[in-house]
Amino acid sequence: MSQTANIRPSGQAFLRQYELVDRVRAYDPSADEAILNKAYVFSMKAHGEQMRHSGDPYYAHPIEVAGILASLHLDVASVCTALLHDVLEDTDTTYSQLAEEFTPEIAELVNGVTKLGQVELSSPNPSRERQQAENFQKFVLAMSKDVRVLLVKLCDRLHNMRTLQYHPKKESRERISRETMEIYAPLARRIGVDQICSELEDLSFQHLNSSVFESITKRVDAWRADQKIIISEMSIGLRDLMDVHGLNVRIYGREKRAYAIWRKLERQGISFEDISDIYAFRIVVDTPETCYKVLGILHQAYRCVPARFRDFISVPKGNGYQSLHTTILSAENNRVEIQIRTERMEDIAERGVAAHWAYKNQSYAFDPESANLAGGDPLRRIRPLVEMMEHTGDAAEFLEHVKLEMFTDQVFTFTPKGELISLPIGATPLDFAYAVHTKIGDTCIGALINGREKPLRTRLKNGDVVKVIRGGHPAPQPDWESIAITGKARSALRRLVREEQAIEFQRIGALLANHAFAREGKDFSESSLEDALKRLAIENVNALYEILGRGELSVVELMRAVFPHRGNADAIEDFKAREIIQDETARLYVKGDGIKPGVGMHLSTCCSPIPGDRIVGYQAEGQGIVIHTIDCEVLGSFEDQDDRWIDLAWRRAADQTASTGRMIVTIEHVPGALADLTKIIGEANGNLINIKTVERSPTFFDMIIDVEVTNNRHLSHIIAAVRASTFVVSADRARIEPSIEITNTEA
Ligand code: MN
Repeated sequence: MSQTANIRPSGQAFLRQYELVDRVRAYDPSADEAILNKAYVFSMKAHGEQMRHSGDPYYAHPIEVAGILASLHLDVASVCTALLHDVLEDTDTTYSQLAEEFTPEIAELVNGVTKLGQVELSSPNPSRERQQAENFQKFVLAMSKDVRVLLVKLCDRLHNMRTLQYHPKKESRERISRETMEIYAPLARRIGVDQICSELEDLSFQHLNSSVFESITKRVDAWRADQKIIISEMSIGLRDLMDVHGLNVRIYGREKRAYAIWRKLERQGISFEDISDIYAFRIVVDTPETCYKVLGILHQAYRCVPARFRDFISVPKGNGYQSLHTTILSAENNRVEIQIRTERMEDIAERGVAAHWAYKNQSYAFDPESANLAGGDPLRRIRPLVEMMEHTGDAAEFLEHVKLEMFTDQVFTFTPKGELISLPIGATPLDFAYAVHTKIGDTCIGALINGREKPLRTRLKNGDVVKVIRGGHPAPQPDWESIAITGKARSALRRLVREEQAIEFQRIGALLANHAFAREGKDFSESSLEDALKRLAIENVNALYEILGRGELSVVELMRAVFPHRGNADAIEDFKAREIIQDETARLYVKGDGIKPGVGMHLSTCCSPIPGDRIVGYQAEGQGIVIHTIDCEVLGSFEDQDDRWIDLAWRRAADQTASTGRMIVTIEHVPGALADLTKIIGEANGNLINIKTVERSPTFFDMIIDVEVTNNRHLSHIIAAVRASTFVVSADRARIEPSIEITNTEA
C-alpha cells in the first residue's frame, strides 16, 4: 500500500508502517515483522474511506493507538490488537477472519477490546443509570481476564481524548471527558500507568472545567517566569554536588500538570502560593542504595523540610510506586522538591503494569518474576472491583462505590501480625476490619489503634497498627455506613443494615396484622393469611409482614385481601406503617444515651454544619441540642463540660436537601473579579444565596459568600475552584462570623 496516504489534512504526518515496526523492534528484537506489517495494511484496507471528526482518514486512529502501545513497550500481539481494535465494530471483518489471518490470541484480544467499547459507561439520561452500572460490571469482568485488553482500551481512549476538540457536540465532549475522568483515568492509575493516567486527567479537566484549567495554566505561566533563574541555579547546584561526590546520575525537572495542581488545591485546602512542588527535580540513579546515598548528600548540603520527607522505597504506594521524596531549602530559602529513584523505579512509575513485559529467553512477554519483584500480581488492584461486584446486589450502588473508591488516595496500616493493609485516605477501623475479611467486618464492635481503644470513626493514619475487637454476632449501628468509606465496607454494612431492617419491618408488620385482626374481633393465625398472599401475589408471610411494616401495603388493603367478600367496611380507619416510623427517618440520627425523645435540635450559626461534616451536639440549658462541627472553636469553651456533649452523626436523608455553606474570600479590587467569582461558583453547581462584602484596603475586598451545597465535599470543591481564580488571594470555609462591620451588597 502506498505510503503517501500517511499525511493528515492538517499536514501532520502520522506513524508510517516501517516507523512502527522499527519502534517495536527497538525493544523486542524477536518481533514478528510480517504480522505487524499485515495488521497495519489490513486495518488501512478495512477502514478504507471512513473518516474521523478531525477530517483524518479513520485508519490514522488505530495506527496512532498502536504507536502509543509501542511507546509503552507492549508485545506484538497488543500492538496488532491496537491496529485492529475497531475492525470488528466498524467494518465487515469477522472474528473468525481475524483468527485465521492473524492468531486466535489477537482475535480474542480484539474481541475483548470491542466488547469494552460497546459498554456504554455514561449516559446523558439518568434513567439509564442502571443500564450503565450493569454495563460497568461487564466491563470489569472483560478487562479482568487479560490486562492487555485494558491497556489497548486506555491507549484508544487516550488518542480519542487527544483529538476530542474535533468532536462537534459540546455535550458529547463533556460526557466523554467525565467518563474518562471517572473511570478510565482511575483504572490507569490502578494499574500504575501514570504516563497515560495523568494525560487522560489533564485532557478531561481541560474540557470539564475549562475556566479553572485556564486560570491555573495562567498562574503556572507566571510562576514559571518568576522561578526561571532559581530553577536553573538549583539545577546547576545539584549537578555540581553530584559531580563532587563522583556520582553518575540523571537529573531532570518536571512540572506538575494543571489537573494535579487543581487536586492539591481541592484536596488539601491550600492556596496556589502554598504549593511547593509545582516543579520537582528527579535524580535517577542505578541502585536503591545509591538513592539513600544521594539523600544523605542532599540533606548534608541543604536544610530539609522534615514534614515533607517520604520514603516510598521502604513502604511503596498501593500501585507499586517507589521513590524517595524530600523537600530542601535553597540558599535563598526557596522550597524545592526532589524525587530520588532508580531507573527501574522510574520505569515502573511511568509505565506501571506495562513495565513487566521483558525480553527473556529469546522471546518478549509478560514476566511474572519482574512483577513479583515489584509487588506481585499487576491486576491485584483490579480484582477487588470484581470481588466487590460479586458482593453488591445493586448495580447502581456498585458504580457509586467504584467511583468513590478509585478516586481516593491511600493510607498504609498494619494488622497486629504486621500484614500491610492499604486503604483509601480517610478510612476508619471499620474499613480496616472489612479489608481484612468480611466476617471480621461484620462482627466488628470496636478497635485498638496502636494499643489504645479508639472510636470507630477515627481516621486511620499511615503506620497505624489496628486490632479489631469483635462481638459474637453482627450488630451494625445505623450510622456506621457513614463512618466507613470503602466500597467493600459500605456495601457490606448496607447489606447488614438491610437485613436487620427487614427483620424489624417484619416485626412491625406482624404486630399491625395482629392488631387489625383483634380490632375486628377475629382470631389471628398465619394460615388465615394464605389466600391473601395469593391475591396480593406475595411470596410468603414474612415478605407480607415486611411490606406491611414498610408501609407499602396498608392495613385496610390487607384486610380487604383477607376478607374479599366482606365489602367496604368504612369503619376501619386506614393507616400505613410509614406514619408510625416517620420519626425515625428524621434527618439526624442521634447516637448516645440520655436524650429524651422530642428534644429540639438545631444547627449552630458559628460553624454552620452541613451534611458530611463531623459533628457533635452540645446540650445547652433550655435550648435543646445545638449541633457544631467537631473543629468549631466555640466548643473549646465547653471543654470542661463534656458530660453535655453528645455524639451525633448524619443520617442519609431520603431526599437530598440543600444546605447553606459559608466561605470567606479575599479578592483583588479590580473590575471583572466578582463576575469571575460568580461564574466559577456557578460552574461548580453552587447556588449563590448571598454575598456580603467589606472593603479591607483599596486593593482588596473581604467577602462572605453563602452558597447552597449538597454536602461538605461539594463546599470544599467550590472553595478550591474559587482559590484557583487569578483574582483570589485566599478562600476558606467560614467558621466564626468575623467581628467586622458588614455592609450588605446583594449579589
Ligand atoms: Mn478506537
